[in-house]
Amino acid sequence: MVFLGTGGSLPTKSRGLPSVAIKRDGELLLFDCGEGTQRQMMHAGLGFNRPTSIFISHLHGDHLLGLPGLLQTMSSLVRDKPLDIFGPRGLALFLKALQGTLGFSATFPVRISELTPGKTVNKPDYSIRTTLAKHDITCLAYAMEEHERPGHFHPDKARRLGVPEGPLWKELQYGKSVNVEGKTIEPKSVTGPPRPGLKVTYAIDTRPCQTVKQLARNSDLLMHDGGFALDRKEKAKEYFHSTAEEAAALAKAANCRRLALVHISAVTRDDKILLKEAGRVFSHTIVPRDLMVLSLMRSP
Ligand SMILES: [Zn+2]
Ligand SMILES: [Zn+2]
Repeated sequence: MVFLGTGGSLPTKSRGLPSVAIKRDGELLLFDCGEGTQRQMMHAGLGFNRPTSIFISHLHGDHLLGLPGLLQTMSSLVRDKPLDIFGPRGLALFLKALQGTLGFSATFPVRISELTPGKTVNKPDYSIRTTLAKHDITCLAYAMEEHERPGHFHPDKARRLGVPEGPLWKELQYGKSVNVEGKTIEPKSVTGPPRPGLKVTYAIDTRPCQTVKQLARNSDLLMHDGGFALDRKEKAKEYFHSTAEEAAALAKAANCRRLALVHISAVTRDDKILLKEAGRVFSHTIVPRDLMVLSLMRSP
């Protein structure tokens, strides 16, 4: 994962507007596309012609004004792969207006899907679940959840059941039952328990709320709005954002393994304060800087 932009509302000299990239088996998933995202993608060496899906949280400018430039650059570079863009209602109209007024046509298919909260996007190896965050306009929180992987294969058990080494082993490893001399062998009799995939949740521009807590349950990583220090607690509430401490409490309650605070307010001069305040509640907290890379490992 690369944190492309870790600021919020206003960019600062050190923090760009929100965008996070997940690189997964050659595919790119972008969560939000704040202004300047395309240059950050260049710095991160992510490329512009990978299979890509972009998930927009909501229609506040700081979260999607990077789209016009990104689409135009992809066209200039003659991208040919389709681009999927997901987001709340109103996204299609915004993109249609762009194409109409800027008068450029993409060199690749742009497939726009408007999602209502609660909708799930299913992909072959993972799904993206959504829920309604608590902001002053409709704002989606997303969770990328990989499907379970088959458990470890035990060759000794397969041999004992009379399954000859070869293609049948492979079938069993991929979770299919096989037939040996009229006897059906179930994969569970030769493999260990299924292994969980990774879960990453992105909840930006939100107050702490039940829906996000439920969505984030057992995440390997929760990225949560948390750019306000305690001395601006009232402001966080007024603007429908969260303090670092509130984000930490939610990460703990949702049994997350790690928390990354995002949407760091331009007013927060020293992010050590955020780390300190959140860390008192949930010690596995980080405050990423722009272009920070984080590798998430699946359990072996
Ligand atoms: Zn924002
Ligand atoms: Zn917002």
